[in-house]
Formats: sequence, C-alpha cells, structure tokens
Amino acid sequence: MKMLIGEKWVGKEEKIDVLNPYNNNLVDTVPSGDKDDVEAAFQAAEKGYKTNRDLPVHQRVSILYQTAEIIKSRQEDFAKTIAMEGSKTIKEARKEASRCIDTITISAEEARRLVGETIPFDSREGSENRLGYYFRFPIGIIVAITPFNDPLNLVAHKIGPAIAGGNSVVLKPATVTPLSALKLGEAFIEAGLPWNILNIVTGRASKIGDVLVTDPRGRMISFTGGTEAGLDIVKKAGLKKIGMELGSNSPVIVMDDADLNRAVELSVSGAFWAVGQNCIGVQRIYIHDAVYEKFEKLFVEKTKKLKVGFQLDEDTDMGPMITEEEAARVQKWIEEACQEGAELLTGGKRKGTLCEPTVFRNMPTSAKLNCEEVFGPVVNLYKVASLDEAVELANSVKYGLHGAIFTRSLENAFKAIKELDVGGVMVNDSTDYRIDMMPFGGVKWSGLGREGIKFALLEMTEPKVVCFNL
Ligand code: NAP
Repeated sequence: MKMLIGEKWVGKEEKIDVLNPYNNNLVDTVPSGDKDDVEAAFQAAEKGYKTNRDLPVHQRVSILYQTAEIIKSRQEDFAKTIAMEGSKTIKEARKEASRCIDTITISAEEARRLVGETIPFDSREGSENRLGYYFRFPIGIIVAITPFNDPLNLVAHKIGPAIAGGNSVVLKPATVTPLSALKLGEAFIEAGLPWNILNIVTGRASKIGDVLVTDPRGRMISFTGGTEAGLDIVKKAGLKKIGMELGSNSPVIVMDDADLNRAVELSVSGAFWAVGQNCIGVQRIYIHDAVYEKFEKLFVEKTKKLKVGFQLDEDTDMGPMITEEEAARVQKWIEEACQEGAELLTGGKRKGTLCEPTVFRNMPTSAKLNCEEVFGPVVNLYKVASLDEAVELANSVKYGLHGAIFTRSLENAFKAIKELDVGGVMVNDSTDYRIDMMPFGGVKWSGLGREGIKFALLEMTEPKVVCFNL
C-alpha cells in the first residue's frame, strides 16, 4: 500500500515488509517514510487545517457518517487485515472492525454537539454593557501516533474526533501494523474528505519519531503506546498539548461474595484477549482467601481449554504474539519469575510467536510480572485476606488505567470505586470492558487526558471567548 500525503497516495523505493506474525508470510509492503515525507505531511496538514476549519459542521458530519458506511460495507475485509497484520484472531478482529464503525459514527454525532456557552459579563461591576459567549475552535494539526494492538480502532479514536472538531491530522501508525490505518484513510477519502486534512506517514519511529513530535506546527500530540515511548515524547514535544494513552497491568479483585463463574469467565477472557496485548488486559487478580482455591481451580481449567494457533482459523482462541522478539521477552520474564519463586500453574512455554496462556500464583511483588506491564498472555493469582489488602496491593504499582471488582456487596463495590487509583472501575466485569463513547484514560504512569470521542473532542479543541462592548 502507499502512504497518504497531501493530495496523493505516495510510494517509495524503500519499503517496509508487513508480515503475518504467525508464519512470517508477507502480507503487503508500505513505504519507509523519512523526514522529507513528514515535512510534506506537515505542509499539507497546514492547508488541510484551513480547509477543515472552514468546512460547515454538517459536511464534516456527513463525511464521517459516509466513512462509517464504507467501513461497514467492507467490515470483513477490515477484520481480515487486522488479523493478518497483527495478533488478533479473526473473531477478535471482527469485534474491532465493528467498534471502529461505532467510533466513527459517534464522531459524527459528537461533531453536532460541540457547543459553547454564553458568558454573564455583567456579573462584574463595570461590565454592564458587555455581551458575549465562547465557542470551541479546532487547535490545528494533530500529530497522532498509534500502537500495533488495535491497529484500526485506536487510529479511528484519533482521526474521528480530530476531523469532527475541524482539525487536520498527521498520523504515524505502528510500523508492524500500518495496513488497517491506510485502509481507514482510503475510506475517508472515498467518503469525500477533502485532501490534505488527513495525512498518513508510514515509517519507523527511529527514523521519523523525533521530527514528528518536535515540529512546532503540530499543536497536539495524541499518543497511544508504551509508557517508555510516552515519556520520551513528553520530554521532546515542546509547547503543545499532549494526550497520552499508555500502558498498565490491570488489577481485578474477587471478593468472597462474588459470582465466581462469572468472575472466572470474564477474567480469563480479559487476561488472554489479543494474547494479553491489551492495555486494559487483566494481569493481577486478588482473590479473597475464602474462595481462592475454588477460583484458582476453575480459572486454570478454563485457561487450559484455550486453543492457541493460526489467528485466521475460526476456532482459534489465541493467536500469535506480534513478533518473536516480544514472545521471547515474555518468556524471559516468565523464567525470571520462576527463579524468583513464583509458582507456575499452567502454561509458560512458547514456540516461535505462539505463547501458551500462562497462570501464576505466589508472584513475588518484586518480579517484573507483578510490577511491570507484561503485554502478553500471563496472569497472576494472589490470595488476600480483605478488601483493604486487595486495594492496597492493586494500587501498589506505577500504573492506573482500569481496575475491577467482582462482588455482590454495594459497600465493597463503592469502596473499590473510591479507593482504586485508576481511570475506570468495572463492577462485576473484567478490566478490559470498554465502549467507544465512554471517557477512557489513566492516572499515574498510565497516561494524561482522556479519549472517548466527546472527551477527545474537548482535548482537540479550545474555547475562544467573544465579547461585544455594546
Ligand atoms: P510503542 O512501542 O510505544 O509504539 C507505539 C507507537 O509509538 C508506534 O507507532 C511507534 O512506532 C511509536 N513510537 C515508539 N517510540 C517512539 C518515540 N520515541 N517517538 C515517537 N514515536 C514513537 O507501543 P506498542 O508496542 O506499539 O504498543 C503497546 C503499548 O501500547 C502497550 O504499552 C500498551 O499498554 C499501550 N496501549 C495503550 C492504550 C491506551 O489506550 N492506554 C491502548 C493500546 C495500547 P514504531 O512502530 O515505528 O516503533
């Protein structure tokens, strides 16, 4: 495929191979963008900003609705692209494609609801004859940088609200999974989005990351990815808005009054969805000691039934990890944890990019698998004596994206809601529950700001005050 810069689809001699992580088969190639391509994209986006800023809202709305229709008409092709270039099974990929339709549709709806307020200037003595209001104006060029694990919908979460709010975009998708983003770009152009508003540069962060984030023409960096990259970007970005959707190692609490079958079913799914390569994936489960043994038995039984294999087979539950390097890193963390005294209950082995779903108990608090984000198919079970202990341990890490509690007690639920240091608390659900209109984001090292269309639109626009001195 080609990249989208200005008014054309641009190819290059130097290309990047996009490989299926299951078998390393070539799926397609994309251009290896460089700093000249980024410069061309910024020049185009400056024009695109003026075009979109001046576009009546109803036109933005109809382009967004039309884009959603196009994605719907090609839903299976989008799902196959997600599954072939990435780690998701075809069933998981179908869900992502359908959520992308939601994301773009909600962007169209929210474009209509972006409103201001009148300001009571006469609330101050001496301002009696003044009348005015504020409205929200687009901030300009949004630099969007996205990760590999939701290669379509997380891109839509940036482009949708950016366009709805009247901005232009320079997007850099993850190097390993650029195809879904380019196909989304095609859908926007076919839907009638004027050229220059959306620019997609494919290329490695090592080559174009710095020029993208340091260019003062970018008025906001909307980044989703790992905390390490996020910190690097924050240091270099300069004076511009920053949206950071970063990693986590999400905690789930299971109390003695919980519906255990539901807790097991949803936590197994939450731990191994997308091979655990999920920012809100379940990594740490704190189980009340009264139900610990039963929970552990059911959890391990259910985990052992998961079928690992080729992501495009309809009956595969868990596909490959994104690269062999990542799979080897997870295996190393597993081996280190075993040496530190953690007890392996099931899994732990790997063949190439295929990792077994892995469950531990007695994970030492110092182990990477406890305190870092594993971003792989590994989950730890911990026995706790009380909700207080569970909350304290849940909060004992540097991350805070989502937390969850399974309980039938309102008192327990409200205590967890109040005390968990996270951006979202799921009650009787897994941490990996999300719909696309809810505010989404983290505290601590899990991020800054919120996505979820309405909330991203607020981040991507600013109030402009108007005052008439009558
Ligand atoms: P990553 O390595 O941080 O990369 C994410 C994106 O940033 C890629 O496009 C990457 O480009 C680019 N990048 C990396 N370093 C950069 C730098 N110094 N300057 C500019 N761009 C840079 O993350 P990933 O492995 O793709 O994704 C996994 C991470 O994303 C996990 O930590 C996960 O929790 C997080 N995530 C968070 C959310 C959320 O909403 N909170 C959602 C999904 C994923 P290249 O591909 O060229 O390296």
